[in-house]
Formats: sequence, structure tokens, C-alpha cells
Amino acid sequence: MDMPFWKTKRLHEMTREEWESLCDGCGRCCLHKLRHEETNELSFTNVACRLLDLETCRCSDYARRQRRVPDCVGLTPEALAEIDWLPPTCAYRRLRDGQDLAWWHPLVSGDPDTVHQAGISVRGRAVSERRAGALEDHVVDWPGKAPRARRARQNNNSREKTEC
Ligand code: SF4
Ligand code: SF4
Repeated sequence: MDMPFWKTKRLHEMTREEWESLCDGCGRCCLHKLRHEETNELSFTNVACRLLDLETCRCSDYARRQRRVPDCVGLTPEALAEIDWLPPTCAYRRLRDGQDLAWWHPLVSGDPDTVHQAGISVRGRAVSERRAGALEDHVVDWPGKAPRARRARQNNNSREKTEC
């Protein structure tokens, strides 16, 4: 059986379509972060960019996102080398760091819903910046945590269930 492209190609060798398909649609990178000036430490919040659809966890205007949100960062293989704020669950970060895609990734599972079923996406736990108020009131640690895996029986199949 042929190996999937993310196992055989390096990030900069991927086609545009392959690169885009690596995004699992979790929405974690669209949460605001706070950078502490003195320590340079990063804190995640549960406050989402105004363009994030909190149900689908996808950008509601992906094609025009950088025009509408100037500080939205476009991910490229070059940018990835510099970025320190992607969550540990992010497919781009995982591949950059030599890990494989996780079972919940739609390219692995074949089902775009597994990222939600596994509790990886922000669905149900993010608030829009339109009504959040001060970011400092919304600091949370789950977006920066890798999930703890445990085995659970689902639909008579053994599958990893994750908790952040
Ligand atoms: S954190 Fe990574 S996988 Fe999740 S939405 Fe952002 S780019 Fe996609
Ligand atoms: S503009 Fe879209 S892709 Fe960029 S941070 Fe906002 S929701 Fe995410």
C-alpha cells in the first residue's frame, strides 16, 4: 500500500492542496494568546478571533482572512520554523517536530468530525472576541496541552479517547 504524502514528503515538498489538508480544523490557533513582556512566556485564552465559526471551528472567511484580520498569520513551511505558539496538537507542529498525525486527524480517520469527537477542537469551549471582554479574564491552559490518551470502547471498536 502506498504511504500517505505526509509520511513521504517534507513540509516544503508538499503541494498547496496537501499543505492545506494538513489543517485538522481544530481552531486552536485562532484563539488569542497573551505574551508576558518580562518572561516572554505565552498564555492561551479561550477567546476566539471574530472570524472563527465556533461551531465548525473553521474560519468564516478563509480566502480574505488576512485582509480582514491583519494579524492573522499565514502558515508556511518557512514561518513554521519561527512560530512558538502553535498548540501541541497542531498537525503542522507535530510534523515539524517529527511526530505523526494523530488518530483524530481527518486525513487518518477519514472523518472530519473526529477532531471534535476527540475533544481536540475548540467547539463548546471558546468565546468570540466580540463579547469576551478582557483577554486576561480568559486565560486557560487546555489549548497548550497535549491530550492524555486513554482507551475507550466506541461503536464496538477500540479507539483512543483524549482529554485536554
Ligand atoms: S492549530 Fe493547526 S491543525 Fe488546528 S486549526 Fe490551527 S493550523 Fe489547523
Ligand atoms: S482570520 Fe480566520 S484563520 Fe485567521 S485567526 Fe481569524 S478565524 Fe483564524
